[in-house]
Amino acid sequence: MKSKLYVVGIGPGGKEFMTEQAAQALNESEIIVGYTVYADLVKKYYPDKEFITTPMKREKERCEIALTKAQEGKTVAMVCSGDSGVYGMAGLILELGEKYKEVFVEIVPGITAASSGAAVLGAPLIHDFAVISLSDLLTPWETIEKRLHSGAAADFVICLYNPSSHKRSDYLEKACDIILEHRNSETICGYVKNIGREGQTSEIMTLKELRTRKVDMFTTVYIGNSQTRRIGNSMVTPRGYR
Ligand code: SAH
Repeated sequence: MKSKLYVVGIGPGGKEFMTEQAAQALNESEIIVGYTVYADLVKKYYPDKEFITTPMKREKERCEIALTKAQEGKTVAMVCSGDSGVYGMAGLILELGEKYKEVFVEIVPGITAASSGAAVLGAPLIHDFAVISLSDLLTPWETIEKRLHSGAAADFVICLYNPSSHKRSDYLEKACDIILEHRNSETICGYVKNIGREGQTSEIMTLKELRTRKVDMFTTVYIGNSQTRRIGNSMVTPRGYR
């Protein structure tokens, strides 16, 4: 019989955001593999499991470890934050998994940051939206710029992942400048930091104000379309119901 490797999206933070399917996959697994920060989020709920963690930027190594352990006959879970299929490990596991004929891979989805953060702000993603990562580690910056221009020109609500890091502290400003070529500076925007985790904070502001905000890598940013409004303390994109 083939052994199993689950690629599990654990949602943004605490266990209340995890699906029943994800909790079951972790329960069934003997070994849980993941980036240190995400593994730590689930460790307290599964103290009896064996944990194998690797630091950031060691994704390939992390996947090979998970696949090798599964090949040896263990039931393994690779944990990712949010959804395992949105900037998660599901793709790389399936790519590398081709070589591991004895391993059956099952992808378990989770609540992605775009959804969980949207709920904190109100309802910014009610209509068509584009998700763009500002990380240029794996995508050339020219491509990111092209996508920002296209999304902004087409009046998509834009949700930004990886808006900043130590080395890229001005990327959000650059992205706002591109979007400002297509959109009014008073456009309603918002961000949520540490969604579902300790220290969750959020703010709603204009595009002009967002441009100078300092955000970190645990932040998800929302840029409204031409219809997005602030209703009380909520960011809302109307869908056009009459
Ligand atoms: N697979 C994840 C995304 C990984 S990319 C998902 O589906 O949510 C990492 C980026 O996701 C971060 O830079 C941030 O923009 C966003 N993110 C993930 N978890 C977050 C959280 N708890 N709070 C705020 N943003 C988060």
